[in-house]
Amino acid sequence: MASTLNVSRALKSPGEAFPFEADARIEEMEVLGDPVRFADIAVKGEFVGAGETVSVDAIVTATVHSRCARCLEAVSLPIAAELQAEFARQPDPDDPDQYAFEGYAVDLAEAVKDALVLQLPIRFLCKEDCKGLCPKCGVNLNTGSCTCRKGDDERNPFSVLRSIVENDEEV
Ligand SMILES: [Zn+2]
Ligand SMILES: [Zn+2]
Repeated sequence: MASTLNVSRALKSPGEAFPFEADARIEEMEVLGDPVRFADIAVKGEFVGAGETVSVDAIVTATVHSRCARCLEAVSLPIAAELQAEFARQPDPDDPDQYAFEGYAVDLAEAVKDALVLQLPIRFLCKEDCKGLCPKCGVNLNTGSCTCRKGDDERNPFSVLRSIVENDEEV
């Protein structure tokens, strides 16, 4: 399988839906400073031709690999996205859902990437109650402990501010 569809039949039979299955490879990227890699990408849906354009309606599933926002350990989770894109030989530059194709080959890779990126969580956590790293010595508090005195933090007026900010992020 590949991320490229041969759409010659759809262009010859406008309005007829052609089911397909495809996959895609997307290079590792950085999203808001975090490395993000998609694996096991599977695309399943149908495409329909209309004159010189082809509409694709599909579900994309993948595994996304990144790192925990608190403890920086590797995190992976399943992700699914709806892909609704239109492909044109001369795409409208003002339409973000329209992509270019040449000849009879529609390459889904860019549209698949855009659909998956939109479904990324605001931040990755290895678990809901990840304790993160000690802000002083950097030890991973999920797996270890340190001798940094917690009392110091509580007397620091900025730690109150920090917990307010962290609580805000949860919303
Ligand atoms: Zn974590
Ligand atoms: Zn510490």
